[in-house]
Amino acid sequence: MPFGHDMVYSLATVVDLVNTSPSTGGEDKLTDLEQLTEFVENRQVSGVGELGEADLGQVRALREAFHKVFTAPDQPTAVIRLNTLLSGTRITPRLTEHDGHALHVHYFAPGASLGEHLSADLGVALAHLLVEGEWERLRTCSAPDCGHVFVDESRNRSRVYCDSRTCGNRMHVAAYRARRRA
Ligand SMILES: [Zn+2]
Ligand SMILES: [Zn+2]
Repeated sequence: MPFGHDMVYSLATVVDLVNTSPSTGGEDKLTDLEQLTEFVENRQVSGVGELGEADLGQVRALREAFHKVFTAPDQPTAVIRLNTLLSGTRITPRLTEHDGHALHVHYFAPGASLGEHLSADLGVALAHLLVEGEWERLRTCSAPDCGHVFVDESRNRSRVYCDSRTCGNRMHVAAYRARRRA
């Protein structure tokens, strides 16, 4: 994929965020402020102040809005859904080298809440992906009992499982057993 480190990082963050939702088949992994703080620390989201219940509510709503972009039936629908998400987001581009990272652009406005911060930076990353004609790389896992989303970064866009070590391996074992039974 022709994307820089920062873009890849933002895409990984939006995938992680969406996959905390029970809409993707697992348990809810964003139920309280402790889990929200853990998410922010794991993903090294910068400049986050004191978090409250309002932040939790915003981020929980945002993950569903992002999920709808991943599960859009076609590219025009994904564009409409992402534009809706972005239309409620104040965006102020700013160059930064925080925490020793290479110079990159942040999009969230000064004083943004965590929800606004994530919708700006992750929303713009997805916008670039769509502009590059790479919408098809936004995928949902093909394992029948898994609804996790992922960004297919493979050269030939051939990835079908959210994680080759878990779902991929599980499905290969199941296929092997089915063949042996046949
Ligand atoms: Zn940054
Ligand atoms: Zn999976």
